[in-house]
Amino acid sequence: MQGLMMNTPLMISSLIRHADRCHGDSEIVSRTLEGPIHRYTYRDAHLRARRLARALPRLGVEPEDRVATLAWNGYRHFELYYAVSGSGAIIHTINPRLFHDQLVYIVNDAEDRMVFFDLTFTPLVEKLAPLCPGVKHWVALTDRAHLPQSALPGLSCYEDLLAAESDDFEWPEFDENTASGLCYTSGTTGHPKGVLFSHRSTILHAFAIALPDAKNLRATSSVLAIVPMFHVNAWGIPYSAPMVGAKLVFPGAALDGASLYELLESEAVDSTSAVPTVWMNLLNYMTQNKLRFSTLKSSTIGGAACPPAMMKTLSEQFGVRVHHGWGMTEMSPVGTVNAPKGCHQGLSEEAKFQLALKQGRPLYGVEMKVVDGQGTELPRDGKSAGEVLVRGPWVLRRYYKDAGGNPLATDGWLPTGDVGTIDKDGYLQITDRSKDVIKSGGEWISSIELENIAVGHPSVAEAAVIGIRHPKWDERPLLIVVKRSDADLSKDEMLKFYEGKVAKWWLPDDVVFVDELPHTATGKLSKLTLREQFKDYRLPTC
Ligand code: AMP
Repeated sequence: MQGLMMNTPLMISSLIRHADRCHGDSEIVSRTLEGPIHRYTYRDAHLRARRLARALPRLGVEPEDRVATLAWNGYRHFELYYAVSGSGAIIHTINPRLFHDQLVYIVNDAEDRMVFFDLTFTPLVEKLAPLCPGVKHWVALTDRAHLPQSALPGLSCYEDLLAAESDDFEWPEFDENTASGLCYTSGTTGHPKGVLFSHRSTILHAFAIALPDAKNLRATSSVLAIVPMFHVNAWGIPYSAPMVGAKLVFPGAALDGASLYELLESEAVDSTSAVPTVWMNLLNYMTQNKLRFSTLKSSTIGGAACPPAMMKTLSEQFGVRVHHGWGMTEMSPVGTVNAPKGCHQGLSEEAKFQLALKQGRPLYGVEMKVVDGQGTELPRDGKSAGEVLVRGPWVLRRYYKDAGGNPLATDGWLPTGDVGTIDKDGYLQITDRSKDVIKSGGEWISSIELENIAVGHPSVAEAAVIGIRHPKWDERPLLIVVKRSDADLSKDEMLKFYEGKVAKWWLPDDVVFVDELPHTATGKLSKLTLREQFKDYRLPTC
């Protein structure tokens, strides 16, 4: 017997319509590239999103078409989130920090029809345009007065598009499993792979992260979305905030300590999320200037492990409680968030701190287990470490265009590539990652790609790249090289060899020459041994 309740589909457009009806006066505040702070309400955002939804088909966008953005966090990007997905097309948020060749690959692989870009990225899109013939329109996210002088084919102005439309538009209803958004992971080997979210997965994820033990969002909250909207949808905040009617604050391109602090204070922010690197800059700025928060009492930190010292400083000096979170693009992205349970109240301060360092408990909806090399589930004892596998309604089943084949284990769970433990209360602790990517400032650097380039140098016999801890960037790459016998190669010469082959921030921070590299029994480089050997290595950039 079937239940007899309505089958109303979970539509992304319903979030903004709800925010308009029930929280129409709640503010959205954005730092803009043009200069002044922009302020308006959910009602205004909904009106403009409907105008944009009318403009899209006039530019040839049909349901399921990919519409890309190269943009910072701001109100126009927010309108695109709703207009594109709401009208049945797919918003493809591109990470502008990727290397040029990867950007070209991504735009072509996604088959983007249009790209909306912030003024910062005008020189970038001018370079991309000739290599992306499928893109028919490049739209600058600005008004006519600020439209760049550019020979981009099909260049239009965002505000002109909106001005030409009325807001007489009803959001269509369709299958909630329809694709809504596309975001590429920067893969460790080969090309980046696309993760395709649906309306249903996005809404369920938004519900889950709004809960009290996750982001604790409410109509009275003021939320600063620091995590970029091009990095897994700013961890879902642009969907959760309208769901509860919270005030939403966007920092634009200004992610430095001074600018973030100013916004946190002027907008009375009481909720935010960021990677450890951003926090590091903010804390340095605040310490140097002897500043304190007036309203911020807690923050989610994730994307990379939150260093214990940072968690201590935040709590003891700045009165901010850290909720450590973990996830990945393939999980929309949030899987776990750390919050204590009633039974932890009696713990000593030190035991509470050790618990808070863990990556947290799974949100309802995400199931998690750790397995050994044979795929056998390990005990939930907080000690047995194995690969972390997940499943749930906002976890990836297949990559876009089936890139990389079937990513799932035989039992249908998704292997995350992370290694960790789960304790009896369900708290996950990440102990390592099975991939050897280097996490720099919340972004990925592929060690394999850097190694491949190094061994392309005629004087290099073998090379390995490992991440070395860095106080500002979390990790930076160290290149370890075995020279060919009698070859003459200096550090500067080696680094120069990377020029034009990778983005500047991918460049190894240092080069070490050794006689030989350690190998495993099967002849592979033993990164584990290398990491052990170089665990106390100090980079010149530290
Ligand atoms: P991304 O897909 O770029 O969001 O990166 C996901 C990866 O970041 C995960 O697979 C982890 O390796 C890493 N990660 C995310 N959050 C944490 C955390 N709190 N602690 C340690 N690693 C993390």
